[in-house]
Amino acid sequence: MKTIRAEYVIVGTGAAGPVLAYHLARAGKDVLMLERGPHLTPEKLSQRETEMVGRLFKDGGAQMNTACDMFLLQGNGVGGSTALTNGVCFHFPDAVLDRWATEFKVDLDRDRIAAAQRRVDSVLNVHELERDVFNPATPLLENGIRAIGREPLHFRKNFLDCVGCGYCTVGCKYGRKMHSGMTWVPMAMQHGARLMAMTEVNKIDAGGATVRGLKCRDLDSGEKFRVEADRYILSCGAINTPGVLLRSGIKGEDTVGKWVSFNVGSICFAEFPEPIDAFDGDQMCVWVNALPDYVLEQLHNPPASFALTMPLWHREHYDQLDRYRYMTSIGALVATDPRGQIHHPPIPGWHEEITFKASAGELDRMRRGIEESARIFLAAGATKVFPPCAETLLIRSEDDLKHLPSRFRMQKQLTGFGSSHPHGGCRMGVDAKTSVVDPEFRVWGFDNLHVCDASVFPTSLAVNPQVPIMALADYAVHAIAGIEPPATVEDGPVAEARRRLGLAPDEPVLLSSGVPPT
Ligand SMILES: Cc1cc2nc3c(=O)[nH]c(=O)nc-3n(C[C@H](O)[C@H](O)[C@H](O)COP(=O)(O)OP(=O)(O)OC[C@H]3O[C@@H](n4cnc5c(N)ncnc54)[C@H](O)[C@@H]3O)c2cc1C
Ligand code: SF4
Repeated sequence: MKTIRAEYVIVGTGAAGPVLAYHLARAGKDVLMLERGPHLTPEKLSQRETEMVGRLFKDGGAQMNTACDMFLLQGNGVGGSTALTNGVCFHFPDAVLDRWATEFKVDLDRDRIAAAQRRVDSVLNVHELERDVFNPATPLLENGIRAIGREPLHFRKNFLDCVGCGYCTVGCKYGRKMHSGMTWVPMAMQHGARLMAMTEVNKIDAGGATVRGLKCRDLDSGEKFRVEADRYILSCGAINTPGVLLRSGIKGEDTVGKWVSFNVGSICFAEFPEPIDAFDGDQMCVWVNALPDYVLEQLHNPPASFALTMPLWHREHYDQLDRYRYMTSIGALVATDPRGQIHHPPIPGWHEEITFKASAGELDRMRRGIEESARIFLAAGATKVFPPCAETLLIRSEDDLKHLPSRFRMQKQLTGFGSSHPHGGCRMGVDAKTSVVDPEFRVWGFDNLHVCDASVFPTSLAVNPQVPIMALADYAVHAIAGIEPPATVEDGPVAEARRRLGLAPDEPVLLSSGVPPT
Protein backbone atom coordinates (compact mmCIF):
# COMPACT_ATOMS: atom_id res chain seq x y z
CA MET A 1 0.00 0.00 0.00
CA LYS A 2 1.23 3.51 -0.88
CA THR A 3 2.47 5.54 2.13
CA ILE A 4 2.82 9.33 2.09
CA ARG A 5 4.96 11.03 4.76
CA ALA A 6 4.96 14.49 6.34
CA GLU A 7 6.12 16.12 9.55
CA TYR A 8 2.63 17.44 10.34
CA VAL A 9 -0.57 16.14 8.79
CA ILE A 10 -3.72 18.25 9.16
CA VAL A 11 -7.09 16.69 8.38
CA GLY A 12 -9.73 19.17 7.19
CA THR A 13 -9.35 22.53 5.44
CA GLY A 14 -12.22 24.50 7.03
CA ALA A 15 -11.87 27.34 9.52
CA ALA A 16 -9.19 25.79 11.74
CA GLY A 17 -6.95 23.45 9.72
CA PRO A 18 -5.49 25.88 7.15
CA VAL A 19 -4.60 28.48 9.81
CA LEU A 20 -2.44 25.86 11.54
CA ALA A 21 -1.06 24.75 8.17
CA TYR A 22 -0.06 28.33 7.34
CA HIS A 23 1.76 29.00 10.61
CA LEU A 24 3.50 25.61 10.61
CA ALA A 25 4.59 25.86 6.96
CA ARG A 26 5.74 29.45 7.48
CA ALA A 27 7.95 28.20 10.33
CA GLY A 28 9.57 25.72 7.92
CA LYS A 29 7.64 22.56 8.86
CA ASP A 30 6.74 19.93 6.27
CA VAL A 31 2.92 20.10 6.24
CA LEU A 32 0.33 17.97 4.44
CA MET A 33 -3.37 19.02 4.36
CA LEU A 34 -5.96 16.31 3.69
CA GLU A 35 -9.49 17.23 2.62
CA ARG A 36 -12.43 14.95 1.93
CA GLY A 37 -14.23 17.30 -0.47
CA PRO A 38 -13.31 18.78 -3.85
CA HIS A 39 -11.14 21.81 -4.56
CA LEU A 40 -13.62 24.04 -6.38
CA THR A 41 -12.00 27.34 -7.29
CA PRO A 42 -14.36 30.26 -8.19
CA GLU A 43 -14.39 29.56 -11.94
CA LYS A 44 -15.65 26.00 -11.26
CA LEU A 45 -18.63 27.23 -9.21
CA SER A 46 -22.06 28.01 -10.59
CA GLN A 47 -25.17 29.60 -9.11
CA ARG A 48 -27.26 26.49 -9.75
CA GLU A 49 -28.20 25.79 -6.14
CA THR A 50 -29.20 22.16 -6.56
CA GLU A 51 -25.87 21.30 -8.19
CA MET A 52 -23.71 23.32 -5.80
CA VAL A 53 -25.47 22.17 -2.60
CA GLY A 54 -24.94 18.58 -3.71
CA ARG A 55 -21.23 19.13 -4.31
CA LEU A 56 -20.25 21.51 -1.51
CA PHE A 57 -22.32 20.39 1.48
CA LYS A 58 -21.66 17.27 3.54
CA ASP A 59 -24.15 14.54 2.55
CA GLY A 60 -25.44 16.87 -0.17
CA GLY A 61 -26.98 19.13 2.50
CA ALA A 62 -29.14 16.31 3.86
CA GLN A 63 -27.36 15.72 7.20
CA MET A 64 -29.93 15.51 10.00
CA ASN A 65 -30.17 14.36 13.60
CA THR A 66 -31.53 10.84 14.21
CA ALA A 67 -35.03 12.15 15.03
CA CYS A 68 -35.04 13.94 11.63
CA ASP A 69 -36.34 17.14 13.17
CA MET A 70 -33.15 19.18 12.81
CA PHE A 71 -30.96 19.76 9.75
CA LEU A 72 -27.22 20.14 10.25
CA LEU A 73 -25.28 21.95 7.54
CA GLN A 74 -21.53 21.53 7.10
CA GLY A 75 -19.17 22.15 4.22
CA ASN A 76 -17.36 19.51 2.20
CA GLY A 77 -14.49 20.88 0.14
CA VAL A 78 -11.36 23.00 0.32
CA GLY A 79 -12.35 25.85 2.65
CA GLY A 80 -14.80 23.55 4.49
CA SER A 81 -17.85 25.33 5.85
CA THR A 82 -16.10 28.71 5.46
CA ALA A 83 -16.60 28.46 1.67
CA LEU A 84 -20.38 28.45 2.27
CA THR A 85 -20.66 31.22 4.82
CA ASN A 86 -22.48 34.49 4.45
CA GLY A 87 -19.21 36.10 5.47
CA VAL A 88 -20.59 37.16 8.85
CA CYS A 89 -17.71 37.87 11.25
CA PHE A 90 -17.93 38.14 15.02
CA HIS A 91 -15.27 37.89 17.70
CA PHE A 92 -15.46 35.60 20.74
CA PRO A 93 -18.11 37.07 23.07
CA ASP A 94 -16.42 37.89 26.42
CA ALA A 95 -19.29 36.22 28.29
CA VAL A 96 -18.53 32.91 26.56
CA LEU A 97 -14.81 33.04 27.38
CA ASP A 98 -15.70 33.93 31.00
CA ARG A 99 -18.01 30.89 31.19
CA TRP A 100 -15.34 28.58 29.74
CA ALA A 101 -12.86 29.83 32.35
CA THR A 102 -15.14 29.50 35.36
CA GLU A 103 -17.26 26.46 34.48
CA PHE A 104 -14.76 24.36 32.47
CA LYS A 105 -11.39 25.78 33.65
CA VAL A 106 -10.56 26.51 29.99
CA ASP A 107 -8.90 29.84 30.68
CA LEU A 108 -7.65 31.13 27.33
CA ASP A 109 -5.11 33.96 27.43
CA ARG A 110 -7.26 36.95 26.42
CA ASP A 111 -4.38 39.03 25.04
CA ARG A 112 -3.28 36.18 22.78
CA ILE A 113 -6.86 35.59 21.61
CA ALA A 114 -7.27 39.32 20.88
CA ALA A 115 -4.04 39.33 18.84
CA ALA A 116 -5.17 36.19 16.99
CA GLN A 117 -8.54 37.77 16.13
CA ARG A 118 -6.76 40.87 14.82
CA ARG A 119 -4.56 38.69 12.58
CA VAL A 120 -7.57 36.76 11.29
CA ASP A 121 -9.48 40.00 10.60
CA SER A 122 -6.58 41.34 8.57
CA VAL A 123 -6.09 38.16 6.49
CA LEU A 124 -9.85 37.96 5.81
CA ASN A 125 -10.32 41.71 5.09
CA VAL A 126 -13.08 41.86 7.73
CA HIS A 127 -14.95 45.17 7.56
CA GLU A 128 -18.51 46.50 7.81
CA LEU A 129 -20.51 45.51 4.74
CA GLU A 130 -20.77 48.32 2.18
CA ARG A 131 -24.27 49.76 1.96
CA ASP A 132 -24.31 49.62 -1.85
CA VAL A 133 -24.58 45.82 -1.78
CA PHE A 134 -27.36 45.71 0.84
CA ASN A 135 -30.37 43.84 -0.50
CA PRO A 136 -33.46 46.05 -1.09
CA ALA A 137 -35.35 44.63 1.90
CA THR A 138 -32.73 46.05 4.28
CA PRO A 139 -34.09 49.62 4.67
CA LEU A 140 -37.55 48.19 5.35
CA LEU A 141 -36.16 45.92 8.06
CA GLU A 142 -34.08 48.74 9.54
CA ASN A 143 -37.29 50.78 9.89
CA GLY A 144 -39.12 47.83 11.46
CA ILE A 145 -36.27 47.18 13.91
CA ARG A 146 -36.23 50.83 15.00
CA ALA A 147 -40.03 50.88 15.26
CA ILE A 148 -39.99 48.11 17.88
CA GLY A 149 -37.31 49.93 19.88
CA ARG A 150 -34.22 47.95 18.82
CA GLU A 151 -31.10 49.11 17.01
CA PRO A 152 -30.33 47.73 13.53
CA LEU A 153 -26.67 46.69 13.45
CA HIS A 154 -24.70 46.10 10.25
CA PHE A 155 -22.71 42.91 9.79
CA ARG A 156 -18.94 42.83 9.47
CA LYS A 157 -17.95 40.55 6.60
CA ASN A 158 -14.86 38.89 5.12
CA PHE A 159 -15.48 40.05 1.57
CA LEU A 160 -13.19 41.70 -0.91
CA ASP A 161 -15.22 43.98 -3.17
CA CYS A 162 -18.45 41.97 -2.99
CA VAL A 163 -20.80 42.54 -5.91
CA GLY A 164 -23.90 41.55 -3.93
CA CYS A 165 -24.99 38.64 -6.10
CA GLY A 166 -26.89 37.01 -3.20
CA TYR A 167 -25.54 33.48 -3.67
CA CYS A 168 -23.01 33.27 -0.81
CA THR A 169 -24.31 29.98 0.57
CA VAL A 170 -23.44 28.07 -2.60
CA GLY A 171 -19.91 29.50 -2.78
CA CYS A 172 -18.70 32.72 -4.39
CA LYS A 173 -18.17 32.31 -8.10
CA TYR A 174 -16.75 35.84 -8.27
CA GLY A 175 -13.93 35.03 -5.84
CA ARG A 176 -14.96 37.87 -3.48
CA LYS A 177 -15.40 35.83 -0.30
CA MET A 178 -12.15 35.54 1.65
CA HIS A 179 -12.80 32.06 3.01
CA SER A 180 -10.07 29.62 4.04
CA GLY A 181 -9.73 28.20 0.52
CA MET A 182 -9.01 31.70 -0.82
CA THR A 183 -6.68 32.80 2.00
CA TRP A 184 -5.02 30.43 4.49
CA VAL A 185 -4.83 27.43 2.11
CA PRO A 186 -2.94 29.22 -0.70
CA MET A 187 -0.90 31.13 1.90
CA ALA A 188 0.17 27.82 3.47
CA MET A 189 0.95 26.40 0.02
CA GLN A 190 3.11 29.44 -0.78
CA HIS A 191 5.26 28.27 2.14
CA GLY A 192 5.47 24.72 0.81
CA ALA A 193 2.48 23.00 2.45
CA ARG A 194 0.93 20.25 0.29
CA LEU A 195 -2.83 19.75 -0.25
CA MET A 196 -4.64 16.54 -1.16
CA ALA A 197 -8.35 17.11 -1.88
CA MET A 198 -10.89 14.30 -2.36
CA THR A 199 -8.97 12.40 0.33
CA GLU A 200 -10.96 10.94 3.19
CA VAL A 201 -9.38 9.86 6.44
CA ASN A 202 -11.26 6.75 7.46
CA LYS A 203 -9.41 5.60 10.55
CA ILE A 204 -6.53 6.42 12.81
CA ASP A 205 -4.04 3.60 13.32
CA ALA A 206 -2.87 3.97 16.91
CA GLY A 207 -0.69 1.79 19.09
CA GLY A 208 -0.78 2.70 22.78
CA ALA A 209 -0.24 6.41 23.21
CA THR A 210 1.15 6.99 19.73
CA VAL A 211 -0.59 7.37 16.39
CA ARG A 212 1.30 5.39 13.73
CA GLY A 213 -0.63 6.47 10.66
CA LEU A 214 -3.93 7.39 9.00
CA LYS A 215 -5.91 5.05 6.79
CA CYS A 216 -7.05 7.13 3.83
CA ARG A 217 -9.02 6.73 0.65
CA ASP A 218 -8.82 8.65 -2.61
CA LEU A 219 -12.50 9.39 -3.28
CA ASP A 220 -11.90 9.81 -7.04
CA SER A 221 -10.06 6.55 -7.73
CA GLY A 222 -11.12 4.55 -4.68
CA GLU A 223 -7.45 3.79 -3.93
CA LYS A 224 -6.64 3.15 -0.27
CA PHE A 225 -3.37 4.48 1.10
CA ARG A 226 -1.61 5.43 4.31
CA VAL A 227 -0.33 8.74 5.63
CA GLU A 228 2.38 8.79 8.31
CA ALA A 229 3.56 11.85 10.21
CA ASP A 230 5.31 12.95 13.40
CA ARG A 231 2.18 14.78 14.54
CA TYR A 232 -1.46 14.49 13.56
CA ILE A 233 -3.98 17.33 13.86
CA LEU A 234 -7.68 16.62 13.33
CA SER A 235 -9.58 19.70 12.10
CA CYS A 236 -12.54 17.93 10.50
CA GLY A 237 -15.07 20.09 12.36
CA ALA A 238 -17.60 19.29 15.08
CA ILE A 239 -19.51 16.06 14.29
CA ASN A 240 -16.74 14.83 11.90
CA THR A 241 -13.73 14.91 14.26
CA PRO A 242 -15.46 12.91 17.01
CA GLY A 243 -16.74 10.68 14.19
CA VAL A 244 -13.18 9.87 13.03
CA LEU A 245 -12.09 9.15 16.63
CA LEU A 246 -15.09 6.89 17.30
CA ARG A 247 -14.58 5.00 13.99
CA SER A 248 -10.99 4.40 15.10
CA GLY A 249 -12.05 2.96 18.46
CA ILE A 250 -10.78 6.06 20.33
CA LYS A 251 -13.44 6.80 22.94
CA GLY A 252 -11.43 8.50 25.69
CA GLU A 253 -13.04 7.79 29.05
CA ASP A 254 -16.35 7.44 27.23
CA THR A 255 -16.05 11.15 26.54
CA VAL A 256 -15.65 11.33 22.75
CA GLY A 257 -18.80 12.57 20.99
CA LYS A 258 -20.37 14.04 24.13
CA TRP A 259 -21.28 17.62 25.04
CA VAL A 260 -22.29 18.81 21.58
CA SER A 261 -23.93 22.22 21.44
CA PHE A 262 -25.29 24.35 18.63
CA ASN A 263 -26.34 27.80 17.63
CA VAL A 264 -29.76 26.65 16.46
CA GLY A 265 -31.88 28.68 14.11
CA SER A 266 -35.36 28.94 12.67
CA ILE A 267 -36.57 31.33 10.02
CA CYS A 268 -39.58 33.66 10.01
CA PHE A 269 -40.89 34.68 6.56
CA ALA A 270 -43.00 37.66 5.50
CA GLU A 271 -44.81 39.01 2.47
CA PHE A 272 -44.98 42.72 1.61
CA PRO A 273 -47.69 44.40 -0.52
CA GLU A 274 -45.22 45.48 -3.24
CA PRO A 275 -42.30 43.58 -4.82
CA ILE A 276 -39.15 44.12 -2.71
CA ASP A 277 -36.71 41.96 -4.73
CA ALA A 278 -34.71 41.01 -1.66
CA PHE A 279 -32.72 38.50 -3.75
CA ASP A 280 -30.97 41.42 -5.45
CA GLY A 281 -28.09 41.99 -3.01
CA ASP A 282 -26.26 40.46 -0.09
CA GLN A 283 -28.28 37.79 1.75
CA MET A 284 -27.49 39.13 5.24
CA CYS A 285 -26.98 42.81 6.01
CA VAL A 286 -28.54 43.74 9.39
CA TRP A 287 -28.91 42.04 12.74
CA VAL A 288 -30.37 42.65 16.19
CA ASN A 289 -28.48 41.95 19.40
CA ALA A 290 -30.81 40.39 21.98
CA LEU A 291 -28.09 38.40 23.77
CA PRO A 292 -27.92 36.43 25.96
CA ASP A 293 -31.33 35.22 24.72
CA TYR A 294 -30.94 35.27 20.96
CA VAL A 295 -29.75 37.23 17.95
CA LEU A 296 -31.92 38.04 14.95
CA GLU A 297 -30.18 37.92 11.59
CA GLN A 298 -31.67 39.10 8.31
CA LEU A 299 -31.43 36.23 5.83
CA HIS A 300 -32.63 36.04 2.26
CA ASN A 301 -31.83 32.70 0.65
CA PRO A 302 -31.79 32.02 -3.08
CA PRO A 303 -34.96 30.28 -4.37
CA ALA A 304 -34.27 26.59 -3.67
CA SER A 305 -32.99 27.12 -0.11
CA PHE A 306 -35.79 29.63 0.46
CA ALA A 307 -38.34 27.01 -0.61
CA LEU A 308 -36.76 24.28 1.53
CA THR A 309 -36.95 26.32 4.72
CA MET A 310 -40.29 28.10 4.15
CA PRO A 311 -43.31 26.81 6.11
CA LEU A 312 -46.67 25.93 4.47
CA TRP A 313 -47.53 22.69 2.70
CA HIS A 314 -48.47 21.44 -0.76
CA ARG A 315 -50.49 23.86 -2.93
CA GLU A 316 -50.25 26.71 -0.39
CA HIS A 317 -46.45 26.35 -0.36
CA TYR A 318 -46.34 26.28 -4.17
CA ASP A 319 -48.56 29.34 -4.55
CA GLN A 320 -46.71 31.30 -1.87
CA LEU A 321 -43.40 30.78 -3.68
CA ASP A 322 -44.90 32.62 -6.64
CA ARG A 323 -44.71 35.64 -4.32
CA TYR A 324 -40.87 35.31 -3.96
CA ARG A 325 -40.36 38.87 -5.23
CA TYR A 326 -42.62 40.15 -2.40
CA MET A 327 -41.04 38.12 0.37
CA THR A 328 -38.04 38.04 2.70
CA SER A 329 -37.02 36.44 6.00
CA ILE A 330 -35.25 36.82 9.36
CA GLY A 331 -33.48 34.01 11.24
CA ALA A 332 -33.52 33.72 15.03
CA LEU A 333 -30.33 32.18 16.46
CA VAL A 334 -30.27 30.60 19.93
CA ALA A 335 -27.27 29.08 21.75
CA THR A 336 -28.04 25.66 23.24
CA ASP A 337 -26.46 23.88 26.17
CA PRO A 338 -23.98 21.07 25.40
CA ARG A 339 -26.37 18.11 25.59
CA GLY A 340 -26.11 16.71 22.04
CA GLN A 341 -24.09 13.59 21.24
CA ILE A 342 -22.27 12.06 18.27
CA HIS A 343 -22.56 8.26 18.04
CA HIS A 344 -20.53 5.64 16.22
CA PRO A 345 -22.62 4.66 13.16
CA PRO A 346 -24.35 1.27 13.52
CA ILE A 347 -23.42 0.24 9.96
CA PRO A 348 -19.82 0.39 8.66
CA GLY A 349 -19.36 3.14 6.08
CA TRP A 350 -22.25 5.24 7.39
CA HIS A 351 -21.61 8.69 8.67
CA GLU A 352 -21.83 9.38 12.37
CA GLU A 353 -25.24 9.73 14.05
CA ILE A 354 -26.27 12.84 15.94
CA THR A 355 -28.79 13.16 18.76
CA PHE A 356 -30.06 16.47 20.07
CA LYS A 357 -33.28 17.70 21.62
CA ALA A 358 -33.80 21.37 22.42
CA SER A 359 -34.89 22.15 25.99
CA ALA A 360 -38.12 23.97 26.85
CA GLY A 361 -36.07 27.06 27.73
CA GLU A 362 -34.25 27.02 24.38
CA LEU A 363 -37.55 26.61 22.50
CA ASP A 364 -39.01 29.48 24.48
CA ARG A 365 -36.07 31.73 23.52
CA MET A 366 -36.58 30.65 19.90
CA ARG A 367 -40.29 31.52 20.18
CA ARG A 368 -39.45 34.96 21.55
CA GLY A 369 -36.95 35.54 18.73
CA ILE A 370 -39.51 34.56 16.11
CA GLU A 371 -42.18 36.68 17.79
CA GLU A 372 -39.87 39.69 17.70
CA SER A 373 -39.06 38.99 14.01
CA ALA A 374 -42.81 38.96 13.29
CA ARG A 375 -43.22 42.29 15.08
CA ILE A 376 -40.34 43.77 13.03
CA PHE A 377 -42.04 42.60 9.81
CA LEU A 378 -45.44 44.00 10.81
CA ALA A 379 -43.88 47.34 11.79
CA ALA A 380 -42.03 47.37 8.44
CA GLY A 381 -45.32 47.05 6.55
CA ALA A 382 -45.58 43.29 5.89
CA THR A 383 -49.13 42.09 5.33
CA LYS A 384 -48.51 38.40 6.04
CA VAL A 385 -45.98 36.79 8.36
CA PHE A 386 -45.24 33.05 8.31
CA PRO A 387 -43.54 31.80 11.49
CA PRO A 388 -41.67 28.47 11.17
CA CYS A 389 -44.52 26.31 12.45
CA ALA A 390 -45.37 22.89 10.99
CA GLU A 391 -49.03 23.55 11.81
CA THR A 392 -49.57 26.54 9.55
CA LEU A 393 -49.99 29.86 11.32
CA LEU A 394 -50.54 33.08 9.41
CA ILE A 395 -49.88 36.31 11.32
CA ARG A 396 -51.53 39.45 10.04
CA SER A 397 -51.54 41.54 13.23
CA GLU A 398 -49.93 41.66 16.68
CA ASP A 399 -53.07 39.99 18.05
CA ASP A 400 -52.25 36.77 16.13
CA LEU A 401 -48.97 36.45 18.05
CA LYS A 402 -50.90 34.96 20.99
CA HIS A 403 -51.05 31.66 19.04
CA LEU A 404 -47.28 31.25 18.99
CA PRO A 405 -46.53 29.67 22.42
CA SER A 406 -48.52 26.49 21.73
CA ARG A 407 -46.50 25.96 18.50
CA PHE A 408 -43.10 25.99 20.21
CA ARG A 409 -43.47 23.15 22.73
CA MET A 410 -41.45 20.58 20.75
CA GLN A 411 -38.67 20.73 18.18
CA LYS A 412 -40.85 18.66 15.82
CA GLN A 413 -43.40 21.46 15.68
CA LEU A 414 -40.91 23.73 13.89
CA THR A 415 -40.05 23.86 10.21
CA GLY A 416 -36.52 24.64 9.02
CA PHE A 417 -35.13 24.10 12.52
CA GLY A 418 -31.42 23.42 12.34
CA SER A 419 -27.86 24.55 12.70
CA SER A 420 -24.88 25.53 10.57
CA HIS A 421 -22.85 26.08 13.75
CA PRO A 422 -22.25 22.76 15.58
CA HIS A 423 -19.74 22.84 18.43
CA GLY A 424 -18.22 20.30 20.80
CA GLY A 425 -17.91 16.52 20.79
CA CYS A 426 -14.18 16.71 21.64
CA ARG A 427 -14.40 19.38 24.26
CA MET A 428 -11.33 20.87 25.89
CA GLY A 429 -10.85 20.62 29.63
CA VAL A 430 -8.47 19.93 32.47
CA ASP A 431 -9.74 16.47 33.39
CA ALA A 432 -9.66 13.39 31.10
CA LYS A 433 -12.92 12.20 32.71
CA THR A 434 -14.88 15.22 31.49
CA SER A 435 -13.07 16.28 28.32
CA VAL A 436 -11.37 14.89 25.20
CA VAL A 437 -8.46 17.28 24.67
CA ASP A 438 -6.21 18.98 27.21
CA PRO A 439 -5.48 22.73 27.18
CA GLU A 440 -2.58 22.01 24.76
CA PHE A 441 -5.11 20.65 22.21
CA ARG A 442 -3.70 17.12 22.72
CA VAL A 443 -6.11 14.18 22.88
CA TRP A 444 -5.88 12.79 26.42
CA GLY A 445 -3.74 9.64 26.44
CA PHE A 446 -1.86 10.43 23.21
CA ASP A 447 1.51 12.06 22.64
CA ASN A 448 1.17 13.00 18.94
CA LEU A 449 -2.58 13.40 18.30
CA HIS A 450 -4.21 16.84 18.48
CA VAL A 451 -7.67 18.25 17.76
CA CYS A 452 -8.26 21.86 16.79
CA ASP A 453 -11.63 22.93 15.36
CA ALA A 454 -15.15 23.75 16.57
CA SER A 455 -15.33 20.35 18.29
CA VAL A 456 -13.09 21.51 21.17
CA PHE A 457 -15.52 24.31 22.17
CA PRO A 458 -17.01 23.55 25.62
CA THR A 459 -20.18 25.50 24.73
CA SER A 460 -21.67 27.19 21.71
CA LEU A 461 -20.83 30.84 21.06
CA ALA A 462 -24.32 32.32 20.43
CA VAL A 463 -22.87 34.18 17.42
CA ASN A 464 -21.44 33.05 14.07
CA PRO A 465 -18.16 31.31 14.85
CA GLN A 466 -15.79 31.29 11.86
CA VAL A 467 -13.43 34.03 13.11
CA PRO A 468 -13.23 32.63 16.69
CA ILE A 469 -12.46 29.15 15.30
CA MET A 470 -9.68 30.55 13.09
CA ALA A 471 -8.39 32.61 16.03
CA LEU A 472 -8.34 29.50 18.22
CA ALA A 473 -6.24 27.73 15.58
CA ASP A 474 -3.84 30.68 15.44
CA TYR A 475 -3.67 30.49 19.27
CA ALA A 476 -3.16 26.71 19.19
CA VAL A 477 -0.05 26.75 17.01
CA HIS A 478 1.99 27.87 20.01
CA ALA A 479 0.57 25.14 22.24
CA ILE A 480 0.97 22.40 19.61
CA ALA A 481 4.29 23.33 18.02
CA GLY A 482 5.82 26.10 20.16
CA ILE A 483 5.56 28.52 17.21
CA GLU A 484 4.88 32.18 17.88
CA PRO A 485 2.65 33.67 15.13
CA PRO A 486 4.00 36.90 13.59
CA ALA A 487 2.61 40.17 15.00
CA THR A 488 1.03 40.89 11.61
CA VAL A 489 0.57 38.53 8.69
CA GLU A 490 2.24 40.08 5.69
CA ASP A 491 1.75 37.59 2.93
CA GLY A 492 -2.03 37.25 2.64
CA PRO A 493 -3.88 37.99 -0.59
CA VAL A 494 -5.48 40.98 1.10
CA ALA A 495 -2.16 42.32 2.38
CA GLU A 496 -0.81 41.99 -1.15
CA ALA A 497 -3.73 43.99 -2.57
CA ARG A 498 -3.36 46.58 0.18
CA ARG A 499 0.34 47.06 -0.59
CA ARG A 500 -0.38 47.33 -4.29
CA LEU A 501 -3.03 50.01 -3.72
CA GLY A 502 -0.98 51.89 -1.10
CA LEU A 503 -3.75 51.61 1.53
CA ALA A 504 -3.30 52.04 5.28
CA PRO A 505 -3.23 48.75 7.28
CA ASP A 506 -6.73 49.21 8.71
CA GLU A 507 -8.37 50.56 5.56
CA PRO A 508 -10.70 48.04 3.88
CA VAL A 509 -9.59 46.92 0.43
CA LEU A 510 -12.06 47.53 -2.40
CA LEU A 511 -10.41 46.43 -5.60
CA SER A 512 -13.02 47.38 -8.16
CA SER A 513 -16.73 47.87 -8.45
CA GLY A 514 -19.40 47.28 -11.01
CA VAL A 515 -20.60 44.43 -13.08
CA PRO A 516 -19.53 40.93 -12.00
CA PRO A 517 -17.80 38.72 -14.57
CA THR A 518 -20.18 36.30 -16.25
C1 LIG B 1 -24.17 27.34 5.08
C2 LIG B 1 -23.28 27.85 6.18
C3 LIG B 1 -23.20 29.22 6.41
C4 LIG B 1 -22.38 29.70 7.44
N1 LIG B 1 -22.25 31.06 7.61
C5 LIG B 1 -21.39 31.53 8.55
C6 LIG B 1 -21.13 32.93 8.66
O1 LIG B 1 -21.65 33.75 7.88
N2 LIG B 1 -20.26 33.32 9.61
C7 LIG B 1 -19.65 32.46 10.47
O2 LIG B 1 -18.90 32.90 11.35
N3 LIG B 1 -19.86 31.14 10.39
C8 LIG B 1 -20.70 30.65 9.43
N4 LIG B 1 -20.87 29.30 9.30
C9 LIG B 1 -20.20 28.41 10.27
C10 LIG B 1 -18.70 28.23 10.02
O3 LIG B 1 -18.43 28.14 8.64
C11 LIG B 1 -18.23 26.97 10.74
O4 LIG B 1 -18.59 27.07 12.10
C12 LIG B 1 -16.73 26.78 10.66
O5 LIG B 1 -16.26 26.79 9.33
C13 LIG B 1 -16.34 25.45 11.32
O6 LIG B 1 -14.95 25.32 11.25
P1 LIG B 1 -14.23 23.91 11.44
O7 LIG B 1 -12.81 24.10 11.07
O8 LIG B 1 -14.54 23.41 12.79
O9 LIG B 1 -14.95 22.90 10.41
P2 LIG B 1 -15.29 23.04 8.86
O10 LIG B 1 -15.15 24.44 8.39
O11 LIG B 1 -16.61 22.38 8.67
O12 LIG B 1 -14.15 22.18 8.15
C14 LIG B 1 -13.97 20.81 8.31
C15 LIG B 1 -13.37 20.22 7.04
O13 LIG B 1 -12.95 18.88 7.29
C16 LIG B 1 -13.28 18.07 6.20
N5 LIG B 1 -13.41 16.69 6.69
C17 LIG B 1 -14.34 16.20 7.54
N6 LIG B 1 -14.13 14.89 7.78
C18 LIG B 1 -13.04 14.54 7.06
C19 LIG B 1 -12.34 13.31 6.90
N7 LIG B 1 -12.71 12.19 7.53
N8 LIG B 1 -11.26 13.29 6.06
C20 LIG B 1 -10.86 14.43 5.41
N9 LIG B 1 -11.49 15.62 5.55
C21 LIG B 1 -12.57 15.67 6.36
C22 LIG B 1 -14.61 18.64 5.71
O14 LIG B 1 -14.86 18.27 4.36
C23 LIG B 1 -14.38 20.14 5.89
O15 LIG B 1 -13.81 20.72 4.73
C24 LIG B 1 -21.66 28.80 8.27
C25 LIG B 1 -21.74 27.42 8.03
C26 LIG B 1 -22.53 26.94 6.98
C27 LIG B 1 -22.59 25.46 6.74
S1 SF4 C 1 -20.18 38.38 -4.76
FE1 SF4 C 1 -22.01 37.20 -4.16
S2 SF4 C 1 -21.27 35.20 -3.41
FE2 SF4 C 1 -19.51 36.61 -3.53
S3 SF4 C 1 -19.31 37.45 -1.47
FE3 SF4 C 1 -20.61 38.89 -2.62
S4 SF4 C 1 -22.77 38.23 -2.26
FE4 SF4 C 1 -21.39 36.53 -1.61
